[in-house]
Amino acid sequence: MNQIPLVDLKAAHAEVAEDVRTGFERVLANTAFIGGEEVRAFEREYAAFAGVAHCVGVANGTDALELALRASGVGAGHEVVLPANTFIATAGAVARTGARPVLVDCDPDTYLMDGPAALDAVGGATRAVVPVHLYGQCADVEALAAALPPRVAVVEDAAQSQGAARDGRSPGRGGIASTSFYPGKNLGAYGDAGAVLTDDGERAGLVRAIANHGGVAKYRHDVAGFNSRLDGLQAVVLRAKLAGLAAGNTARRAAAARYDELLSGLVAAGRVVLPVTAAGSAHVWHLYVIRVLGADRDEVVGKLNAEGIGAGVHYPAPVHLTPAFAHLGHRRGDFPHAEEAADRILSLPLYPQITADQQQRVVDVLAGALR
Ligand SMILES: *Cc1c(COP(=O)(O)O)cnc(C)c1O
Repeated sequence: MNQIPLVDLKAAHAEVAEDVRTGFERVLANTAFIGGEEVRAFEREYAAFAGVAHCVGVANGTDALELALRASGVGAGHEVVLPANTFIATAGAVARTGARPVLVDCDPDTYLMDGPAALDAVGGATRAVVPVHLYGQCADVEALAAALPPRVAVVEDAAQSQGAARDGRSPGRGGIASTSFYPGKNLGAYGDAGAVLTDDGERAGLVRAIANHGGVAKYRHDVAGFNSRLDGLQAVVLRAKLAGLAAGNTARRAAAARYDELLSGLVAAGRVVLPVTAAGSAHVWHLYVIRVLGADRDEVVGKLNAEGIGAGVHYPAPVHLTPAFAHLGHRRGDFPHAEEAADRILSLPLYPQITADQQQRVVDVLAGALR
């Protein structure tokens, strides 16, 4: 069968195979398996790409968020505001700091955190708000930061938004953001990896220390830390792929525009709702997420999968309806937009190498499934 995966990691590897091979040879020769020159070079190159002063490579995106929160002073006894519709890791990282996650609903069109709801949720114990730049589109961080009291930090979860910007501002600019290089992300490693991005030298230093057993010099432990470092082999992969990230994002944008066009008939028929890009948003289309109307979403996904099309759901349950966060005491109905999205959304295959023919086939099969 003609398989169309959600993300084509084989096609992505083919583009960098030679650079990865020669880079691996360099690391095997110098045995800098953790940290080392490849990691430093990647940190410099990614900071330049992201438009921030500091990039600290760490072990994964969940650690990156926890580290960014901790470096911003978040810990036990605090509250952290975050959207109910996000990958579970956002809430998991908050919980790991010892702080209590405080959930808010999303905008029904962009699926980004509802800004006014986040401000309403800020109380005396709030130490941070975590906007999630979901699906490749940045939340309005500047508006949020301007409205928050100075004791509340904005810590951005930019795991899905590598290369994205809002009104010309990229994640971490003037603040602090975490990102993930999980293999399926726009910039993906060949294993786990992540980074903290910031213009704040003090918080960058603190992240570096906490992630290295509490100190940057060997056997000097200034704060209680843990181990979350970036490997040299992963840095090789990330450097090789970073060179093609901007072009890959441009290709994703073109593919998203093509889906918009191919789906226009289903939109007119009231069967699907297209993703909405906010004004001033430079979207990098980590995921192309539609809502299906008048059909059982899980059945539609099942039919697409049965035809070899790797449609997915990001994510089938909002944080408050997962067993892991049942202790927060919410019920269905508390965050109606997040719940409605979780019931109806579906992600179509999208990656830089996807062809017009593949997209046409996805839409044909989708139309059949909705018939
Ligand atoms: C992928 C992702 C993470 C976690 O990243 P890992 O590298 O898998 O730990 C956190 N938040 C969001 C929104 C993500 O998509």
